[in-house]
Amino acid sequence: MRSGEGRAGGVKMVQHFLRLGRTFQVRCLRRGLRLFTGSRLEVTKKPVLVIAPHPDDEALGCGGLIALKRAAGVPVRVVFLTDGSSAWRPEPAPSPEEFVKRREQEARASAVILGIRESDVHFFGLADGRLGDAAQRGAATSRLCELLKTYCPGEVFTPHRRDRHPDHEAAWKITCAAIRDAGVCVDLIQYPIWMMWSAPLFLSLTPGQLAGATCLCVEPVRARKRRAIAAYRSQLATLPEGFLPQFLGSHELFFRTSPP
Ligand SMILES: [Zn+2]
Repeated sequence: MRSGEGRAGGVKMVQHFLRLGRTFQVRCLRRGLRLFTGSRLEVTKKPVLVIAPHPDDEALGCGGLIALKRAAGVPVRVVFLTDGSSAWRPEPAPSPEEFVKRREQEARASAVILGIRESDVHFFGLADGRLGDAAQRGAATSRLCELLKTYCPGEVFTPHRRDRHPDHEAAWKITCAAIRDAGVCVDLIQYPIWMMWSAPLFLSLTPGQLAGATCLCVEPVRARKRRAIAAYRSQLATLPEGFLPQFLGSHELFFRTSPP
């Protein structure tokens, strides 16, 4: 073995152990929050609107909630804000147009598995990675405002305000602005995707924000959620090692917040 190969192997091994450590930290943090809060999210009869910056966020963060709501006959609508075009493309790399189409097909297939009606899935098709740009944010806010006025959901699920991903944090701001503009009264609930993975030891949440933590047992629909996530075949290989298991457990974690 050449020394360069040896060094590369050593770096890979260190990275592997770092990821294992992170996976363990995230698991402990989720479990700790669940025990700390003691709060349980109720599956109500209120219609739901789920905001997903990218195709797959809704299944990862809220797949169990969606499946439980649909099993109870509650309307669930999902909005995908961006087209997901910036994600890693599987080999052989499809054209950008084909890739966007594939991500949309995966999102539709995943939604069907969770029990969402085809007409209740909306794609805004905004540019992936640039949701925080003023023009994109304005377009997303006004379209979301219209959907809120049309559907009058009782609950809105959106990424956590400190989710440590620019599009996700922009989605939070867009959601708040749209709710304000629409003048609707909703329960606003945040779901974490990257937050704990990116900052597992220091969440930078205020005590008040931490106090909003609540969890939902999704055991009855766990297998269905797994299948919904698996529908995102183009994305599964792109996720960091150890990232996915945090979304495959028996509970989903949410954070309640006051309406904007
Ligand atoms: Zn995302």
